[in-house]
Amino acid sequence: MNLQDKVAVITGASSGIGAAIATNLDAAGMKLVLTARSQQKLTELASKLQKAVILPGEITDPALPQQLLDKALAEFGQLDAVINNAGVMHMMSIEEADIEALCTMIRVNFEAVVRISYAMLPYLKQQGSGFIVNISSISGLKTTPMTGVYDGTKHALEAFTDSLRMELAGSGVGVATVEPGAVATNLYESWRDRGKQGFDEIVPDPLKSEDVARCVRFILEQPNGVLVPRLFVVPATSPV
Ligand code: NDP
Repeated sequence: MNLQDKVAVITGASSGIGAAIATNLDAAGMKLVLTARSQQKLTELASKLQKAVILPGEITDPALPQQLLDKALAEFGQLDAVINNAGVMHMMSIEEADIEALCTMIRVNFEAVVRISYAMLPYLKQQGSGFIVNISSISGLKTTPMTGVYDGTKHALEAFTDSLRMELAGSGVGVATVEPGAVATNLYESWRDRGKQGFDEIVPDPLKSEDVARCVRFILEQPNGVLVPRLFVVPATSPV
């Protein structure tokens, strides 16, 4: 897809990978609708971009997906890509688990993506073109102790996305996942709050958010008729 003047919704755009995706797609000439909870961070980011509007919100709010679609159509008259990037990561043994935090993580990392897909796919299918790119993780491909629920959300995202890919074959709408290894972002704050190291500290030379943003753009920029359904990207020094 030629990205010039195309329109994307990006979730989790207030920091880390989402903000980098916004910056990269803006440089490619896309018009953007940015969402996350932090209005101030979104406002600051949008002010640096060429054509970006914001719609702050809680990603688990069932009303938000339709509001995001309506915002894209009202502001820019079309929607071409949805980047489901918002996510949280809680790592804890089942004994020390904060069960509400774990169940909220399931809603943020997985249920919200299903709701957004449900709200936006009818529009994209009718248009006969478009993309949904879901930011999964290396944790969608393998698992480790203490991260079973997070890994489960990303495995579910992998299954949902690949199923959708087959369901949408021939519709002109592509779906894909990106599976990053460790990236230096705020994702591990809840873990650090508990006095433990994030994976970005354990893995030497973690990826930068910009590295993941380039992968998203690579997927979107494939010519018509070519789909890259999965893109697994890790630091060259990653031991896992
Ligand atoms: P950050 O913590 O920097 O970004 C997370 C984003 O999600 C923020 O913009 C945050 O915005 C938003 N978000 C979180 N909870 C909610 C919520 N309830 N409602 C709305 N927005 C929410 O982490 P990353 O950039 O690292 O994470 C982005 C994605 O990348 C996640 O899906 C993560 O699982 C994935 N990933 C990250 C890796 C890493 O090593 N960092 C590795 C592999 C995958 P706000 O707080 O303003 O709401």
